[in-house]
Amino acid sequence: MDTLEAGKENGDTFSQQSMTEAEEKEYRAFMRGLKRRNPHETEFHQAVAEFAGAVMPWYLQHEEYHRAQILERITEPDRIISFRVTWETDSGEIRANRAWRVQFNHALGPYKGGLRFHPSVNQSILKFLGFEQIFKNSLTGLPMGGAKGGSNFNPKDKSDREVMRFCHSMMIELSRHIGEDIDVPAGDIGVGGREVSYLFGQYMRLENRWSGVLTGKGLSFGGSAVRTEATGWGCVYFCEEMLRYHNESIEGKRVAVSGSGNVALYAAQKLIEKGAKVVTLSDSGGFLHFPEGLPPEHWTDLRELKEHQRGRLSDYRGGGTYHADANPWGVPCEIAMPCATQNELGPEDAKRLIENGVLAVCEGANMPVTHEAAELFRARDVLHAPGKASNAGGVAVSGLEQSQNAMRLSWDREEVDRRLQKIMSDIHARCVADGSGGGSRVDYIKGSNLGGFRKVAEAMRAYGAV
Ligand code: GLU
Repeated sequence: MDTLEAGKENGDTFSQQSMTEAEEKEYRAFMRGLKRRNPHETEFHQAVAEFAGAVMPWYLQHEEYHRAQILERITEPDRIISFRVTWETDSGEIRANRAWRVQFNHALGPYKGGLRFHPSVNQSILKFLGFEQIFKNSLTGLPMGGAKGGSNFNPKDKSDREVMRFCHSMMIELSRHIGEDIDVPAGDIGVGGREVSYLFGQYMRLENRWSGVLTGKGLSFGGSAVRTEATGWGCVYFCEEMLRYHNESIEGKRVAVSGSGNVALYAAQKLIEKGAKVVTLSDSGGFLHFPEGLPPEHWTDLRELKEHQRGRLSDYRGGGTYHADANPWGVPCEIAMPCATQNELGPEDAKRLIENGVLAVCEGANMPVTHEAAELFRARDVLHAPGKASNAGGVAVSGLEQSQNAMRLSWDREEVDRRLQKIMSDIHARCVADGSGGGSRVDYIKGSNLGGFRKVAEAMRAYGAV
């Protein structure tokens, strides 16, 4: 398994065009060690491979970080808390789920990152998400470390009361490990306002004090304006900056959006506001196609269907054509905005997008593009913004929610939106600063990884051997 080819199968060739032979050798040795220490965690390997490929040349040029073993240390979580959540169904049956909190790195601030409830959740997925969160949070410029958590619990086929019992039970264990200055969870796939409220209510009952221990709270109890919209809006703000920097504009462009959760819906809303045409939305059953763009009144209906009725796109009768068992990547568009989940866009999808003349891919989800697809985009000079840069708006407004809670005040929508726009524009500038060189286009993968890493590496080195 120690051959170069074995590495290649796992997508380790990422970003290596710019590596010398010596750098590549170090990179491969590092990845071999990582895989040996973390067997079978393929999503975690994938996230680290992208990161290490992007930062290795810089890392090797900076002896002080290399000597401090920053790469080895930063890829080892501070701790992983793994526990069982036992709860009771409406019919009185006992159920047990697996749950975790991966506290990855708190060099820059208290651990911060969402909770995901989905049957696919396992330790590898949470480690990849927690790892990415370190650099995403660093890029926001706010004092937040990286973490992620969740459970293989599926809220989709459960009643409200079952979800409540699950959340209350989960918090009994989680409450021992979190706190406003320790670790501040939030939502992710399967965890929205309802779940955060149940978790928060139970935390308060257990601790008998109010604190900003979770973000994504309701507006009446310490939540921030614009937190619901932040990831989707932020992704569009980033996309706009990326296009403007490359002498393009978002207006009039056809955008294929995948997903129909919180990120996709609010990305679509902002795209429509900016004059772009949202040609698709999708869910796990298929996608809705609007060749002329999603009309604003249909957006409102679709939000109602997905957010309040928890329905499926196949039930939508308001317009567009529904395509079962297919994803949106075969639809002609200038911009692809994958906002569903990891590895949802593979090499065949990338080829179809390229054939259709795609200009830019802007990730709303975490790691939605596979290594192979990313390589194809790179080879064809398609602009490609990775989630750790383009979807950082969600956690950025979570950070602003923490600030507001700490100050015991709340900013209005305009204030939070203004700050969100500034943060996304600063992240873009960071990507340009660290990802330029080599060609006429910015390498956003290099820029975001290096831009996020430098600050964390500096803090870790300054702390000494901890
Ligand atoms: N789950 C979101 C993310 O992937 C937000 C996390 C948070 O707000 O803490 O960044």
